[in-house]
Amino acid sequence: MTQPQGILIVAEHRQGVLRPVSLELVTAAQGLRGALGGRVTMAVVGREAQQYAAALSVPGVDDIIVVESADTEFDADTAEHALAALAAELRPALVLLAHSVDSMAYAAASAVRHGWGFATDVFALQADAEGLVATRGGYGQKVNVEVDFPGRATVLLAVRGGSFKPPVGTVQPTLRSLALDGPAPRTRNLAFIEPPSTGDIDMTAKEFILSVGRGVGEQDNIDRFRELADSLGAALGCSRPVADSGWLPKSRQIGQSGKTAVQCKLYIAMGISGAIQHLAGMKHVDTVIAVNTDPNASIFTVARYGVVGDMFEIADELQKQFA
Ligand SMILES: Cc1cc2nc3c(=O)[nH]c(=O)nc-3n(C[C@H](O)[C@H](O)[C@H](O)COP(=O)(O)OP(=O)(O)OC[C@H]3O[C@@H](n4cnc5c(N)ncnc54)[C@H](O)[C@@H]3O)c2cc1C
Repeated sequence: MTQPQGILIVAEHRQGVLRPVSLELVTAAQGLRGALGGRVTMAVVGREAQQYAAALSVPGVDDIIVVESADTEFDADTAEHALAALAAELRPALVLLAHSVDSMAYAAASAVRHGWGFATDVFALQADAEGLVATRGGYGQKVNVEVDFPGRATVLLAVRGGSFKPPVGTVQPTLRSLALDGPAPRTRNLAFIEPPSTGDIDMTAKEFILSVGRGVGEQDNIDRFRELADSLGAALGCSRPVADSGWLPKSRQIGQSGKTAVQCKLYIAMGISGAIQHLAGMKHVDTVIAVNTDPNASIFTVARYGVVGDMFEIADELQKQFA
């Protein structure tokens, strides 16, 4: 039997909307296709799932397979059954899923059932002659762990949303359907209950962010930086200690357990040390400007421009220039 090859991506959708991470997985696949060989196949499962085919036709996708099933919304049994059918037909070297509440319900079970290598919450990937290496957080995200999969012909990875930028453009992949003659779903989606809205802004969509960290000192100083952000036309973000203290809403927190600044072109970090968890939320930023009193702060390793100085003095000067 020939070695498995190619990459299978399973798209996610909810309430009739394709989840953005589905396209991010295409970018994750791009760096690996040379090493793994074969084609990149995007599968989408559900009733009338062909409605997502146009949105999934992005550069990097060779083939789309629509798996028609009875249920409109996610069902773990159906997903597991569909993945088994797809894997039997395609024999992929790599299966990419989103790291999400949906995939948590069937990814591990599928990996065990098929004897695949498996890792969750992956945010970086590479492959060479030695095989595939996935990077994920470890020890409460204090370190990055590289995981390899010796002896596994197929590997399933659940990839963290926001880790890769979605491809831009459209292509015309081949399109076909796969009938699923599995058992009837054992669960039924009754309703979606949205969390209460904070009424706050979406940091993932902001192109210009000014973030403050613990260097801001106390809650009373926040307004000063809010005014500065307004004057500059930036959205005010923060590091985790600022959100944990309740000085800014959690929705403003940038980082691994906060928001990823996916669209951000300019990020001004003031009084932020540059912990790995904060940097995780800044990885797509084009230009970082850091202001910190400590010349050895890690934030300077990712900054295009760095100011070793007091954030309050710099803020006053900027306010004078831009007010
Ligand atoms: C599981 C996990 C998830 C996490 N998720 C996130 C996350 O999503 N986002 C996040 O931010 N953190 C996150 N953290 C926390 C992270 O590890 C750091 O503790 C946090 O990012 C530090 O925030 P900070 O840089 O504001 O504070 P500090 O590390 O205390 O840095 C403050 C900085 O301000 C500088 N400073 C002080 N005064 C001034 C001044 N007057 N002018 C200029 N500079 C000054 C100091 O030199 C220092 O570098 C997470 C941690 C864990 C374990």
